[in-house]
Amino acid sequence: MKTSCEVCGGEIDVPDDAIKGEIVSCPDCGSEYEVTEIKEGKPVLKPAEEIGEDWGE
Ligand SMILES: [Zn+2]
Repeated sequence: MKTSCEVCGGEIDVPDDAIKGEIVSCPDCGSEYEVTEIKEGKPVLKPAEEIGEDWGE
C-alpha cells in the first residue's frame, strides 16, 4: 500500500499487512505516522506525536 506524506508529498510505503497502530515513516523527510485504520484497502495515517515520559509527577 502506498500513501502520500502530508508534510512533503513524498510517497510512503505502508506494508500490506500493516495493522492499526503501526508506525511508518516517510523516506523523504522522516516524518512519522501512525496507521489509524485501513479503509477500503488504503491506510489512513495521522502524524505520530512524540510522546514524552513527562506525565507530571
Ligand atoms: Zn515526507
